[in-house]
Amino acid sequence: MIEKTIAILGSTGSVGQQTVEVAADLGVKTEVLAASRDVKTMESQARLLKPRTCVMENEDAAKELKIKLADTGITVLGGHTALLEAAACPAADVVFNSVGGSAGLEPTLAALKAGKRIGLANKESIVMAGEIVNRTKKECGGEIIPVDSEHSAIFQCLNGRSGAEISRILLTASGGPFFGMSRREMEGITPERALAHPTWKMGSKITIDSATLMNKGFEVIEAVHLFDVLPDTVEVVVHRESIIHSMVEYTDNAVLAQLSVPDMRLCAQYAMTYPERVPGLMGRLDLTALGKLTFFKPDFENFPLLALAYDCIKAGGIIPAALVAADEAAVEAFIAGKIGFTAISDVVSEAISRIKNIPSPTIGDILAAAKEARGIASGIVGKQGVTVAF
Ligand code: MG
Repeated sequence: MIEKTIAILGSTGSVGQQTVEVAADLGVKTEVLAASRDVKTMESQARLLKPRTCVMENEDAAKELKIKLADTGITVLGGHTALLEAAACPAADVVFNSVGGSAGLEPTLAALKAGKRIGLANKESIVMAGEIVNRTKKECGGEIIPVDSEHSAIFQCLNGRSGAEISRILLTASGGPFFGMSRREMEGITPERALAHPTWKMGSKITIDSATLMNKGFEVIEAVHLFDVLPDTVEVVVHRESIIHSMVEYTDNAVLAQLSVPDMRLCAQYAMTYPERVPGLMGRLDLTALGKLTFFKPDFENFPLLALAYDCIKAGGIIPAALVAADEAAVEAFIAGKIGFTAISDVVSEAISRIKNIPSPTIGDILAAAKEARGIASGIVGKQGVTVAF
């Protein structure tokens, strides 16, 4: 029995659901569950974990949930402010933030301002506002335990070490479903095909980002901020089997790796029980059944968004936030059938080139830049104007 109380924001999303499974398995006390609008999933999660409060950011969804949970004594709240209050939940020892996309930034900051330990699955908060997030964490005594599988692995390999002892962070990448293909070959890829990820069970936005390697680019930026290293210290290694979740090379050239079957529940559980380890739902690794593990260099030429991510973190300021927002707009357009697969990187690169950087931005500058970049990207999509026929 783990003597911890948790809150889960974004509980109805893919990582959120897996976090709920872990919480149920460990019998961890759940104070708050929060999500945007998925009433059906929230109702079943509420009946399973019996939190004191459920928050639906969408007011109509909150009204609907209130009726559904009328027999339970669970308080149901609605609105954005209620979500931010859930992030700062006084009773929670760990606040899980698995809100999707740029909407996760404010909850991350709200939790850190309250001095919380965050189990962070929302990478956009770090990518968009890494410096502000780190400053807030330091000033308010908060803590971040990464739930992203690679960063959880690095966190485990570092085990509290930092700075001058680290010579490289080897960030592993599955390579996505289009590994080995040229941009030309990728041109006719449909959303359906891009949405079928070979290894990880994820939401649709991150699945497309995994196919373009934008996700890996975000993870490079995330690693720079989370572990306070220079961009060139983070090296991407394609590892198709997704068994090694990342590695740390120290200055003596010793390399520490974290291995397991690919299962996000391990990352959620580690953040829930840290620094303890307990048995859970995850399967055992059978190395002899696997036989071999393979490694390749990343293909920056055919996956230009990975290279762009390095440029963006080196530029700093508001540019990484603009990258997140431009990519959100481009991926939405791709899923809606408005642009082709390779146009995602074209739209994002073009949008970024039109943004004027602001060094040392405020949170207001960052949110404005995200809005601007999203607008520019949507404008470029609109100009392309044709619906792609597959
Ligand atoms: Mg990841």
